[in-house]
Amino acid sequence: MAAQNTFDVAVIGAGVFGAWTAWHLAKRGKRVVLLDAYGAANARASSAGETRIIRMGYGGDEIYTRWSRHSLDLWKELFTATRQPLFHETGVLWLAGDDDKRLSETHATLTHVGVPFQEMDRPALLSAYPQVNFEGIKRGILEAHSGVLMARRAVATAVADAVSRGVDYRIAKVETPTSSGRLASIRTNTGETLSAGTFVFACGSWLGKVFPDLLGSRIFPTRQEVFFFGVPAGDTRFAVHSLPAWLFQDDEFYGMPDIEDRGLKIAWDHHGEAVDPDTQSRIVSPAMTEKTRKYVAYRFPALKDAPIVETRVCQYENTSNGDFLVDRHPQMENVWLVGGGSGHGFKHGPAMGEYVTGQVLGSAPAEPRLSLATKATAQHRAVY
Ligand SMILES: Cc1cc2nc3c(=O)[nH]c(=O)nc-3n(C[C@H](O)[C@H](O)[C@H](O)COP(=O)(O)OP(=O)(O)OC[C@H]3O[C@@H](n4cnc5c(N)ncnc54)[C@H](O)[C@@H]3O)c2cc1C
Repeated sequence: MAAQNTFDVAVIGAGVFGAWTAWHLAKRGKRVVLLDAYGAANARASSAGETRIIRMGYGGDEIYTRWSRHSLDLWKELFTATRQPLFHETGVLWLAGDDDKRLSETHATLTHVGVPFQEMDRPALLSAYPQVNFEGIKRGILEAHSGVLMARRAVATAVADAVSRGVDYRIAKVETPTSSGRLASIRTNTGETLSAGTFVFACGSWLGKVFPDLLGSRIFPTRQEVFFFGVPAGDTRFAVHSLPAWLFQDDEFYGMPDIEDRGLKIAWDHHGEAVDPDTQSRIVSPAMTEKTRKYVAYRFPALKDAPIVETRVCQYENTSNGDFLVDRHPQMENVWLVGGGSGHGFKHGPAMGEYVTGQVLGSAPAEPRLSLATKATAQHRAVY
């Protein structure tokens, strides 16, 4: 029987944003096709990798605190319904040095929104986590109920659940559409044509390649390297209940405990060089290896000689300031641009999918911060 090729909505990109968009649209009764060039949370995608932090703290950016809290509820519902325990409640620890402005803003926002957290002064930090060198750190905020999502598997689970709700999921690369007014159909690189009423391009780092004139200078894919350090045999000081996920913005490093016995994960959050997500090398660089090794030895002295047991190279898909992008294509009224996760988008997948669905169906107000008009061609990172 010939495949059905006419849909209410075609979602292009099965990363965390596209997967949850397809899921919400299917829940609202829409006929949806979900397409990905390489597969859901494939090794090149930003949603790949084993783990992602989900935290509520966002300084004064309350919208993301609210989205994160809502998303965690939806993630948990999905994991319960599918019997996939893919959230670890490790807690998330924010750390501040002399400049604790962002921590104070986070304190105020979490209080206002009603997210529980615990203030930790230096003596409390030293006593709770003796395996960490807190030099230069003055205070912290512990979000005890935040933690870590098993990223790649969580996206696969969302896609599988979307399929069980009727979504047609296919591996196919979609060609750049050229039209004005309404777009009637898209073509894949194998020559197939698919028609839909609405098209959602949730292409992550590829948005600038799919729409070079419009987004080539507005989405900044940057190289990010991730390291896993093997913990000493029999040592549980870096296990899930001994160490939370943590972020120390002054150092621009973040990390998480030894989850599923893969080692202590650590990465430099600073934006790396500009890259092409199709072709960039996935082998870590000697310079970043050295930098990360030194940092681990400094902050986690017991891991001074720990072996690197795994590495990953990924890319952030940054907008000019870190706010997400959800807007109509200015020349194609039924084409939506969705992305700009900017190194912090994973946790928000469920809320993002719900928001996009509301926009596509015209049933929810638009958030001005996510508009295309706010996406500049020069970077000033402010949201993370
Ligand atoms: C190292 C690293 C650490 C991170 N840590 C965190 C964290 O701790 N917490 C957090 O919340 N976020 C984190 N993030 C950010 C988060 O992972 C991303 O913001 C999020 O995954 C982006 O999802 P996406 O769906 O927009 O993009 P992607 O996952 O990249 O998905 C886009 C998809 O589109 C497909 N595609 C592209 N072009 C086409 C086409 N023409 N046709 C068909 N398919 C196409 C691609 O194959 C890809 O699968 C991190 C990111 C990285 C790289």
